[in-house]
Amino acid sequence: MLSEFELIARYFAGPAQSTVPGATSGVVQGPGDDCAVLAPTPGSQLAVSVDTSLAEVHFPADAPATAIGHRALAVALSDLAAMGARARWCVMAISLPEVDDAWLAGFAEGFHALCRACDVALAGGDVTRGPLSVSVTVHGEIPAGQALSRGGGRAGDVLAVTGALGGGRGGLEAWQAGVRELDDPLLAAYLLPLPRLAAGEALRGLAHCAIDISDGLLVDLDHLCSAGGLGAELDVAALPLSDGLVARLGETGAREAALCGGDDYELLISLPSAQFATARQGLAALDVPLTAIGRLRETPGIAGVDADLLHNGWRHFPGGAS
Ligand SMILES: [Mg+2]
Repeated sequence: MLSEFELIARYFAGPAQSTVPGATSGVVQGPGDDCAVLAPTPGSQLAVSVDTSLAEVHFPADAPATAIGHRALAVALSDLAAMGARARWCVMAISLPEVDDAWLAGFAEGFHALCRACDVALAGGDVTRGPLSVSVTVHGEIPAGQALSRGGGRAGDVLAVTGALGGGRGGLEAWQAGVRELDDPLLAAYLLPLPRLAAGEALRGLAHCAIDISDGLLVDLDHLCSAGGLGAELDVAALPLSDGLVARLGETGAREAALCGGDDYELLISLPSAQFATARQGLAALDVPLTAIGRLRETPGIAGVDADLLHNGWRHFPGGAS
């Protein structure tokens, strides 16, 4: 086995350069010393989050290595998007049963490609031997005092989601049915989710509250409602469904996947109805659809959803991830 130092040097010590013209990576000391040294933008606050992805819990162990690298970073970055943060840096710890050069090269390719796409610098890493798991800590910057949070919603706010829902669950079902083409829209939604970073930044100052949908719309909406001491009324017929979802799961299954499936990594927000058109236009310029799906209200609980689904959503989807 290569030493940890050799592994990091070979696969993870790439130049930590920003892809934004005129910007700097802010990495004073990258991989290779005892710590990374980072230079935050003066006046900004740091948003920090960590996510661990376990083989056979969060992703199939035999998924393509590039997808595993991409996905481990994407799910961590999605939390920065939910706060309206600009992604800056990440550090990554990987545990591997064995060193397989082709696998590691693929993993690093997927990880670095998303770093470049999101303008994130990999500032440090750690490699150990063990069951396959990847833990990614991300650091983002927010202008002081402007972070989006779960708790700022108000009764009467429009509830809206970015993109489409159900693809995470639909993609898992497609994988289990033997689909292996990563250009399949459902499989891509599941294995190659794109964190809504640009949308999150654009929603600062417009949205009252925000959360990313990792556990399923109903569960994450419940988090928003609890944080704000509110309830919600959902328009289930308005839910934007992922491409190919109805064809794979049928009408009812598609709607259940959109409500309870999880792993969608879209943003769920609330905002004043007077701001909705502005927000939708702003996101359309980023090629991100924004769909109104209901309202926040004073009365606790979630109305508009079949009670069976509300209370037994996970029975429909045993073994749901996250
Ligand atoms: Mg989250």
